[in-house]
Amino acid sequence: MQRRLFLQTGLSAAAGMLIARVAAAADAIGKVVKTEAEWRKLLTPEQFHVLREEGTEWAGTSPLNKEYRKGMYACVGCDLVLYSSTAKFDSGTGWPSFYEALPGRMASETDPKTFKSRLQYTEMHCARCGGHHGHIFNDGPAPTGLRYCSNGVALKFLPA
Ligand SMILES: [Zn+2]
Repeated sequence: MQRRLFLQTGLSAAAGMLIARVAAAADAIGKVVKTEAEWRKLLTPEQFHVLREEGTEWAGTSPLNKEYRKGMYACVGCDLVLYSSTAKFDSGTGWPSFYEALPGRMASETDPKTFKSRLQYTEMHCARCGGHHGHIFNDGPAPTGLRYCSNGVALKFLPA
């Protein structure tokens, strides 16, 4: 009985620490909240359409499709760094594509790791400003098998 009690206590303490760590990560990222008028002032009409109205840019229009330099890609709405150039790959779709986002930076309603068929996808949003960036598909390359299909107009490239 004693030992069982100890094990249960140990487990819940570990779970508590995990929750605390997740909360700390969310605190570090913070939240950016603006009114529609404020976003319209800050963003171009194309950026506003993608980020705030869940729009999609025309395929092949982003200069970032052909960006192969080392660096980081940040959200144009709030400057949160979302991707490293090491995760970028040429998907041939006409949209900048990445096999992963930096941990905790891109939020989606469905965890793409739980996808069971190759036709599943989920919408993705910046974890800080909630801006829509595109969709996560599960037809990407190793090591994740995922494809973060991003609207280039919603990203800014920061060369290393
Ligand atoms: Zn953002």
